[in-house]
Amino acid sequence: MLWLITIFGCVERQLARPTPQMGIEQRFWVRVLLLDDAPTCTLKFATSFTVSDSDGQSTQARFYQADVPINVSISAAKITISGRSFTGNEVIITPDKPHIFNLNGDEYRGKLKLIVNPDGNFFDAVNLVPLEPYLAGVVGAEMPDYWEPIALQSQAIAARTYCLYIKNRFGSNRHWDMRPTAANQVYLGVKAESGRIWKAVNQTQGQILVGRKDGANMQYEIFPAYYSSTCGGHTENSSNVFGDTFEPLVGVPCPYCKKVAKPSFFFWPMVQFDKEDVTNKVLQNYPKLKPLGEIKNITPAKQSKYGNFSRLTLFKLAGSSGESGFLRAEDLRLTIDPTGNKLRSTICQIVNMAGAWAFLSGRGYGHGVGMCQCGAQGMAREGKSAAEILFYYYPGSKIVSVY
Ligand SMILES: [Zn+2]
Repeated sequence: MLWLITIFGCVERQLARPTPQMGIEQRFWVRVLLLDDAPTCTLKFATSFTVSDSDGQSTQARFYQADVPINVSISAAKITISGRSFTGNEVIITPDKPHIFNLNGDEYRGKLKLIVNPDGNFFDAVNLVPLEPYLAGVVGAEMPDYWEPIALQSQAIAARTYCLYIKNRFGSNRHWDMRPTAANQVYLGVKAESGRIWKAVNQTQGQILVGRKDGANMQYEIFPAYYSSTCGGHTENSSNVFGDTFEPLVGVPCPYCKKVAKPSFFFWPMVQFDKEDVTNKVLQNYPKLKPLGEIKNITPAKQSKYGNFSRLTLFKLAGSSGESGFLRAEDLRLTIDPTGNKLRSTICQIVNMAGAWAFLSGRGYGHGVGMCQCGAQGMAREGKSAAEILFYYYPGSKIVSVY
């Protein structure tokens, strides 16, 4: 095969897959906050590109600097790109076809908007990307691309639903819709893509989930289709974690993820957190708990019992002042371990030790609401369809198409 690689490998640089949907209406574009309060960044393009003002209509400059690093900086509220300064609080950079740019070493599709922050010394970098290419950068980041095609399709539909819900619900109050991290859903741009990922996105194009709000009429509407890695044996009611009351966001038993996740992953080892550190982090994130003083005791106040294990959902915190307060278990988890890599779920027991809180008998990974990603892979292996998987984890939901 070497001769083939020699002949074809050198002829021409592999042409990138074109970015679809560049002409789609505004409500199907996603604004991803790639850089928050940055003083500088480096761009690179394989094509020429245009810099325009905030409405994206009037061109301010054309650049023909392919494959060289381009420095972007800001000073006195003026953005400078490759030595040329631009007035106005926002500029939009649009690469020519296939509409790909490189920001600080990573490639993304669509356009890049730079927004001057109020102090004039920092800017936000927001990727403007149509929904389907956005999803290609999410599905490949949220699931291994070698997983079953049906599991990848389920992931694409859940991620599309979640994104549109968050955009509609919160986007109008800020200049971005999604963060590229697990705070929303992980988005890695072009490097997360592959042929298998694009196939899953294309085969479910435009499909989202809808469901009814608890206690409301028969109206179906888009809902936040949360999902998490490994539920640990039973998914959780969103009302106990995020406070939503949509009919599809109720807990269901999940016998599937245990067969997919490695045992050392499904069950996690005991972790400890220094008490002083826990007090500092909790009081910093939740100023309403400051009257407690030093946190002296943390006890489960509410839990969901599932046979031989329970998910803690609410903690009671007792302070040195004699006051006490409550915190959702998931909020405490991500406050004391923001990555969630050590304290992986709230299916665990908490033990008050000298100088530290210990969490043991842990199982699962993530908040446990909505689709269990390892469970979806387990169901796909058993021959279930994407619709069967989604209707299992989001009971009472329906699939509809937005375009
Ligand atoms: Zn599960």
